[in-house]
Amino acid sequence: MRLFHSSCASCGATANGICSTCVDALEPAVVPPLLAVKSSSVLCSYSGVGAKIVQALKFRNNRQVLGPLVDALAASVPDDFDAIVAVPSHPERRRERGFDIPELMAKRLSRKLAVPLATPLSRVDDGAQMGRPRAERQGVEFRAADRVPERILLVDDVVTTGATAVSCALTLGLAGARSVSFVALAATPAPIFDGPIAAGAAIRAE
Ligand SMILES: [Zn+2]
Repeated sequence: MRLFHSSCASCGATANGICSTCVDALEPAVVPPLLAVKSSSVLCSYSGVGAKIVQALKFRNNRQVLGPLVDALAASVPDDFDAIVAVPSHPERRRERGFDIPELMAKRLSRKLAVPLATPLSRVDDGAQMGRPRAERQGVEFRAADRVPERILLVDDVVTTGATAVSCALTLGLAGARSVSFVALAATPAPIFDGPIAAGAAIRAE
């Protein structure tokens, strides 16, 4: 057992990553409608304790918080799956952080649920997109392998508009996946449900 980070990332109480009081204080997520996604489960809202914890994970590299959160997430997953698939991260972000949160989540879920990992998705044209102005980088596209598992559990860390999850689900569906369900740690609360934004996200992903 590693002894550093032995205090709760939210309140500072002695705990391995996050204490049970703070797990109980997580606010439920409001998940945007996700086209092509069979079912979705998001552990908490990116607000209050949820925001503190995700920030500890993403910006202070406190990986200890991941275990208790992913275990709580695993308990909320209803279906049987053939494979667990992480949303591929931007290579630049992965380099900055030194680890990949969706991938770590997928690995732990795989062990917890006894479902194999698969990596059928890759990002299209990342290298070419990096040199372009931001306005031309809209609508990240993914590519699927020739063969993809039938029933997939897709994993990401934070949901904002949901466009990334939808884009992955559509790509996997077109490549032959029968169903794609989705899990994430947190969903940003605010303008997700504004009609034009949610509709725009779905349209862009198509
Ligand atoms: Zn705590």
